[in-house]
Amino acid sequence: MIGGGQLARMAHDAAIPLGVRFRLLADTPQDSAALAVNDVVLGDYRDLETLRRFAAGCDVITFDHEHVPTEHLRTLLAEGVNVRPGPDALVFAQDKGLMRAKLDSLGVPCPRHRLVADPADVTQFAQEGDGYPVVLKTTRGGYDGKGVWVVKDEAEAAEPFRAGVPVLAEEKVDFVRELAADVVRSPHGQAVAYPVVESVQKDGICHEVVAPAPNLSAHLAAEAQALALRIAGELDITGHLAVELFETRDGRVLVNELAMRPHNSGHWSIDGAVTSQFENHIRAVLDLPLGDPRPRQPWTVMVNVLGGDYPDMYSAYLHCLARDPGLRIHMYGKDVKPGRKVGHVTVFGDDLEDVRERARHAAAYLRGDITE
Ligand code: ADP
Repeated sequence: MIGGGQLARMAHDAAIPLGVRFRLLADTPQDSAALAVNDVVLGDYRDLETLRRFAAGCDVITFDHEHVPTEHLRTLLAEGVNVRPGPDALVFAQDKGLMRAKLDSLGVPCPRHRLVADPADVTQFAQEGDGYPVVLKTTRGGYDGKGVWVVKDEAEAAEPFRAGVPVLAEEKVDFVRELAADVVRSPHGQAVAYPVVESVQKDGICHEVVAPAPNLSAHLAAEAQALALRIAGELDITGHLAVELFETRDGRVLVNELAMRPHNSGHWSIDGAVTSQFENHIRAVLDLPLGDPRPRQPWTVMVNVLGGDYPDMYSAYLHCLARDPGLRIHMYGKDVKPGRKVGHVTVFGDDLEDVRERARHAAAYLRGDITE
């Protein structure tokens, strides 16, 4: 797996019981996954020679992030490396402009959008719809809300253009909530769909996921799953696909984003589903039969642990573990920095309010926001 973040760390964890040997390409020995994996190649994922050195001896390579240059992946593919998902699919997760154009061609519902040339063009785009505010996104390189701006006038619209990459404008959707439809597809065409989840974002960062999404109509849930399966098939995706969605006030879903790798919206599945997203991603890239994606219990709530003011989260374990023996803690081994995703907690059970309160309490206590 290319990329040493927490997604690789948790994918490695899923590879162990399958007996799958796991090699990692990481930036530094301190990367979250590099702390856990023993077969680590250190190097820059933007460098073709490094990628070649890493891929030699791997049966298949896959990713913890979208940022490996597409042209390098095409070269590796031409040289016989098994790249999954392949560059022709991955490019739609790497470039938001290409993703929107592709989804348009498939007739997939998206927010109103177009590429914009400069701040005056953003104003033009705003006037073609309901005016400002407008959402601007750099087409490449964004994550966790970095590369996304909500701008209220032409002066604010200048900022995104400073990065020197093409900028996509989108209407600001007045959504009821955000959902995610996660599916996994294997090269021989088998696919599974996880229950549609609700994800709560703050400042572009995922804070909380409830599986399944409460009060979602069976009709809309089935529509979202079918949409995700169709996208996975049409784009010929191998592995995990997260389709981030907006639920609109008139009961539709619009596609916000695609991620072709394990995703924060699926972390609940480690403890909450029969087969986790990480295990199914690994099974898919190896073209093994996929596991059951269904939940093991009525409700699972995952809350991300973001870095707070206390550098030492371990001191909070005594309280959290004693208070709640049903709590599942997943820490990523990262240094605590304010706002950084350093772990997540999961609680499951029959009573959504109870499960949610316990998960929120543990995450807030670990962060240091509450002390009792
Ligand atoms: P990233 O690549 O950082 O994940 P996203 O495109 O998912 O960026 O945007 C991050 C967050 O910004 C979304 O989860 C959502 O809360 C908000 N957002 C993005 N696009 C829109 C939009 N068109 N309308 C309203 N909110 C949006």
